[in-house]
Amino acid sequence: MKAYYVLLPLLSSLSLPLAAQVIQPWSGYAVHDGQRPHPTKVEAKSITTTPAPADADIIFDGTNIDAFTKKWAVKDGSLIATKTGKNSTKKSYGSCQLHLEWKIPAGREISGQKGGNSGVFLMGKYEVQIQESHTNVTYADGQAAALYGQYPPLVNASRPQGEWQSYDITFTAPEYKDGSVIKPATITVIHNGIVVHNAQELKGPTTNKKLAAYPTDHPEKAPLTLQFHGDPIEFRNIWIRELGNYNKKN
Ligand code: MG
Repeated sequence: MKAYYVLLPLLSSLSLPLAAQVIQPWSGYAVHDGQRPHPTKVEAKSITTTPAPADADIIFDGTNIDAFTKKWAVKDGSLIATKTGKNSTKKSYGSCQLHLEWKIPAGREISGQKGGNSGVFLMGKYEVQIQESHTNVTYADGQAAALYGQYPPLVNASRPQGEWQSYDITFTAPEYKDGSVIKPATITVIHNGIVVHNAQELKGPTTNKKLAAYPTDHPEKAPLTLQFHGDPIEFRNIWIRELGNYNKKN
C-alpha cells in the first residue's frame, strides 16, 4: 500500500517528460524540447501594416466581424480573443497570402505557454504560434512565430508586450493523390518584416506533444482559424488573398 502512494506521484510526474520524448526525425530534438536552442533575437524596427489589396478578402477591418463564425469582442478597432472559443472564417481557403497584426495586451502576467497565447491556424490545421517571446521564455518550437511543435522561427523578431506585431504569411496547401500526400504544405512567415520561415515544409497538421503526420483525408480548402487559449489577444488588419496558378485566365 505504501509503495502505491510513493509510485503514483512518481508516475504522474514522469508522464509529461515521457510524452515529450517523441523525437522529431527532422530536427533530432524532442517535440517541445526544452533543450532545443532558442533562435537569435533580432530587433524588429517596425511592423508591416499593408492595407488590403483590391483582390483580398477582408477578414477584419477594425469593425466588421461578419467574416467570422464567432462573435469575438471588438474594441477600439481591435478584435479580441474571447471565451466563445476558437474563431474561424465562414469561407474556406487553401493556398493563400495572409496578413494580420496582433498584440498581447500590456500588463498581463505571462509565464511559458500561459498568459499570452493564441495562434493562426492555416486551413484550421497548421499553427503559426502567437506568444509573448520578447522576454518570456518557453520551449523553442512553441515560441512566437514557431510552426508549433515542428520548427522554431529562424530568428526571434518579437516586439514587447503591449506593442502591435505583424505576420505576413504565404501558405501552400498540401497536394494529395489517392489518400496520400504527394506534396507537403509549405509556409513562409515574415514576422515584423523579418523572414522567420522560408518556404518551410510542414510535417503535417499541428499537434501537441506528438509527432505531426499527414492524415489520409485532407480538404482542399478549409477555414482560417484564430486560436483562443484563454488569453485576450488582440487582432487588427486581417486580410487574405487566395493564390492561384500561373497562366490562369480571368
Ligand atoms: Mg497557440
